[in-house]
Amino acid sequence: MQYTVPHYYKGFTCIAGECPDTCCAGWQIQIDPFSLKKYRKNNGPLGNRLKNEINWKEGCFRQYAGRCAFLNENNLCDLYLEGGGQRAFCRTCRTYPRHIEEFEGLREISLSLSCPAAADLILNCGEPVRLLHAEDEKEDEPYEDFDFFLFTKLEDARSLILRILQDRAHPFRIRAAAALALSHDLQQRIDKNALCEADSLFDRYSSPGMWTWFGSRLSSLEHGEGHAERRRVAENALFSILDRLEVLRDDWMPYLVDARRTLKNAPALQKEEERSFSDLFTEQTAEQLLVYFVFTYFCGAVYNADAYGKMKFSFAGMILIRELVRAEWLQNPDITRETILRTACRYAREVEHSDKNKFLMEELLADEGRFGLENLFSLLLP
Ligand code: SF4
Repeated sequence: MQYTVPHYYKGFTCIAGECPDTCCAGWQIQIDPFSLKKYRKNNGPLGNRLKNEINWKEGCFRQYAGRCAFLNENNLCDLYLEGGGQRAFCRTCRTYPRHIEEFEGLREISLSLSCPAAADLILNCGEPVRLLHAEDEKEDEPYEDFDFFLFTKLEDARSLILRILQDRAHPFRIRAAAALALSHDLQQRIDKNALCEADSLFDRYSSPGMWTWFGSRLSSLEHGEGHAERRRVAENALFSILDRLEVLRDDWMPYLVDARRTLKNAPALQKEEERSFSDLFTEQTAEQLLVYFVFTYFCGAVYNADAYGKMKFSFAGMILIRELVRAEWLQNPDITRETILRTACRYAREVEHSDKNKFLMEELLADEGRFGLENLFSLLLP
C-alpha cells in the first residue's frame, strides 16, 4: 500500500485540555463495529459506564448539551484516562483529526482543518506544502471499477494545480484563476471522453505565456463594466449555498447571519483598507487554504468524474473563509491570525464534517449560470 501525506503531517500533536475547542463536542461520534464489540465486553465501572453512555441502537456515544458523555469538565476524555489510553478509543477517535481518502493501492492522509492544532500547522506553514510518499507491505485490496486512467490524469492535474498555486513569483489571484480554468478545461475532456488530450492541456498550462494571459484576463475583468455587481452577486450566491446545508452546531447560523449582515452593510473598502485586510489574510493564507482543499478532495473525482466540481468546492471554501474573516475584521479591525484559525475550523466543522453538506455544496456549485468561471474569477478581484 502506498501513502501520501503533507510534509507537516508528523508535526501534529493533540493539545487536549489546552484545545480552545474540542473534537468531542458538536457532532455525533460514530463507533465502528469492532470497537462496539470491544466496549460490550468491558466489565467493571468503566464497562457499566460504557453500557449506559453508548446509544447501542445508533452505534454512537451519547451526548449531553452537545458534548460526548466521556468528555470531562477539563475537556479530557475519561475513556482515554480510565481505559488505558489510545487503545480504548474507537476508530473515529483514534483517527481524528486525520482524514483518509482511499484509492486502490493508495491512502492519502491529511489533517482536518476543523482541529485547531491542525489548522495551526496548515495555515501557519510558511513554506509551500510538499507531499511525502511512503509504501508498506500491506496488500492492496482490489476496487471494483476503479478507473486507473482517470486517476492518473487527476493526479497529474493535481500536481500541476499545486505547482501553479505555489508559484509565489505570481500574484495569488492569477494562480487561483489558472487553477480553476485548468480544472474547467480538464472537465471538458473528461466529459467528451477525450482524456488522451489531457497531456497537451497540461503542457499549455505549464507554458510561461499562461501567466500573462490570465493576468490580462483578470485585469480586463476588473476594469470592465459591471465588475462590482458581478462580484457582489457571486459572493451572495456562494453564501446562499451555506443556507441550504445541514447545520451541525447551534451557534453556526447566528454567526453566519451576523457575518452576512456586516458584509452587506459595509461600504466599499478604500485601497488603504484593502491593503490592511491583505496584511491580515495574506496571499500565503489563501494559498495554504486552497492547497489544503485541493490536496484533500481533488483526486476524489475518480469516483464521480467531476474534477471541476472538486476544484470549485475547494475554491468556494477558501473564498468563504476569507469573507467570514473579513466580516470579523470589519467588526473589529484589531483581530489577529487567531481569528483566521478559529474561522477556518468553524467552517470546516460545518461543511467538511458532513458528507451530506459536501455533496450538496458540490451539486449546487455545478450551476454554471451562477458559478461560471468569470463569476468565480470576480471573487479574486477587489
Ligand atoms: S480538536 Fe484537535 S487539538 Fe483539540 S482535542 Fe481534538 S484532536 Fe486534540
